[in-house]
Amino acid sequence: MAAPAVEGAAVTALRAVMHRVRLAAERSGRRADDVRVVAVSKTKPVPVIAQVYDAGHRCFGENYVQELIEKAPQLPEDIEWHFVGHLQSNKVKALLTAVPNLDMVEGVDNEKVANVLDRTVSTLGRQPLKVMIQVNTSGEVSKSGVEPSECVELVKHVQLSCSNLNFSGLMTIGMPDYTSTPENFKTLLDCRAQVCKALGVAESQYELSMGMSGDFEQAIEMGSTNVRIGSTIFGPRDYSKKK
Ligand SMILES: *Cc1c(COP(=O)(O)O)cnc(C)c1O
Repeated sequence: MAAPAVEGAAVTALRAVMHRVRLAAERSGRRADDVRVVAVSKTKPVPVIAQVYDAGHRCFGENYVQELIEKAPQLPEDIEWHFVGHLQSNKVKALLTAVPNLDMVEGVDNEKVANVLDRTVSTLGRQPLKVMIQVNTSGEVSKSGVEPSECVELVKHVQLSCSNLNFSGLMTIGMPDYTSTPENFKTLLDCRAQVCKALGVAESQYELSMGMSGDFEQAIEMGSTNVRIGSTIFGPRDYSKKK
């Protein structure tokens, strides 16, 4: 019998993350299954992603359209890809065409990109696409994310005018340097409460995507249903090779 392959560092790290997610979920009175872990693989090579896939993980996230377009066809079709972060409307068509297994866009922050996504899903004859609306919870000037006060209006637009999109919840990155504070998470919770009140639905209907490598346990304890974890699984990113 062949000697068992040595487990890759990313797989070992994934297992540790899943354990910490489970404990945090239990501390918040939930189960590990109630929290989705998006393994954010941006800048990481396909073979490393494949190791994490082979260990049983299925949900991966990318933040650059071109990179996702290159990687997705080299990896199994049953991966649920999440596009995380701001998406430019002029890249929607290429993204949806190249990645039929794109499961969710976490980063809709204006009507224009919502409309382009809606139309493109229809043109391509795809199933409705899940989207989360990105909220700027930092109170600082930022190029991405709607202001909390504009959140209800954008959600209503997606719900009423974009029949090919499934509004799934709200997402935040936190501060401009990608760290988060409990105030960021609280703001996102408040936004969800407002949205649910305006639409007359239960808060459990909509997800909260908050928490990254440095703060996912705290985010889960505050009610996150979707954490986006990159460097704690895949190691620090090296941007020097990026154009
Ligand atoms: C890169 C990225 C993450 C993951 O960040 P880590 O701190 O490495 O976990 C999460 N969300 C978005 C939008 C990202 O771009």
